[in-house]
Amino acid sequence: RYAKLNRQGVAVYRPEFDLPSSERMLIEQELRDAIQKRKLVLQYQPLWDIHQQKLWGVECLVRLQNRQGRFISPEEFINLAEETGLIRRLDQRVIELAMEELRDLDFVCSVNLSPSTIRDSEFFAWMRDFALRLGERASRLQIEVTEGTLMQERDVVVSRLEEMRRWGIKVALDDFGVGYSSMSYLKHLPLDVLKLDRSFTTYLGESETDNRLMDSLIQLGHGLGFKVIAEGVETSEQVQWLRTHRCDLIQGYHISRPLSHRDLRQWMGALK
Ligand code: C2E
Ligand code: MG
Ligand code: MG
Ligand code: MG
Repeated sequence: RYAKLNRQGVAVYRPEFDLPSSERMLIEQELRDAIQKRKLVLQYQPLWDIHQQKLWGVECLVRLQNRQGRFISPEEFINLAEETGLIRRLDQRVIELAMEELRDLDFVCSVNLSPSTIRDSEFFAWMRDFALRLGERASRLQIEVTEGTLMQERDVVVSRLEEMRRWGIKVALDDFGVGYSSMSYLKHLPLDVLKLDRSFTTYLGESETDNRLMDSLIQLGHGLGFKVIAEGVETSEQVQWLRTHRCDLIQGYHISRPLSHRDLRQWMGALK
């Protein structure tokens, strides 16, 4: 019962499998409700260009608010959404909402897609219509996929990603380096951006091994023609290190925590 694939496509034990079934049902009901009544909430976390010192884009992170008003983290409900087949509608809703709320802003909106969403042909048809309606603005949309996305039906997935890139959408590989046989994936995936998992950032500047590893990862990404984002940047020392070592973009609490739509605009206003 624990042999469940996570977003990386790796079988893991996840604490939510221990949720009493009554609680699972409650979250499922709230999720269903939120999708139907358009009550999902997004938070936006800046993707910061460390060389030009400007905002390059934001990652759109979904939040679910329960009846008591508490925010439930996606770690708690994404798996449930996958198991119950709600994930496609959730991922679609996130794309719609992000492009609606940030309509007037001229930067990249990066959304996470579950492996099952990418393989879903209804999603693909919906995405084509949506991209068509976006027109030029499609180049402002980026999707984030993980290595687990290629665990099944690799050829289908690769050709869909290629097609989406033809519509102008950008493709990023999320949490790179902690999944399965990472190097062979890179060869097959049509990508624009490589997001290095935050575990590589943690000891930057403190551990020579971690420094060398990060340096190699940045060069690997650049060698393959991708933009490179370091995730989980929490200190100014890490920023400095990454700037010196030519990483393109950073994301993390040091730049900003994920922000509400309103707080993002305020944060942007303070930049000027
Ligand atoms: P992710 O795509 O790797 O998102 C980054 C996560 O790292 C976010 O957690 C973010 O709040 C957190 N984070 C950002 N900066 C830092 C930092 O400096 N330090 C630390 N310790 N953490 C940082 P969040 O929002 O809880 O999202 C968790 C995961 O849920 C995401 O990981 C993504 O896999 C999934 N997810 C979120 N929104 C969606 C969605 O709309 N659809 C799907 N399918 N998955 C989603
Ligand atoms: Mg992500
Ligand atoms: Mg990530
Ligand atoms: Mg992650």
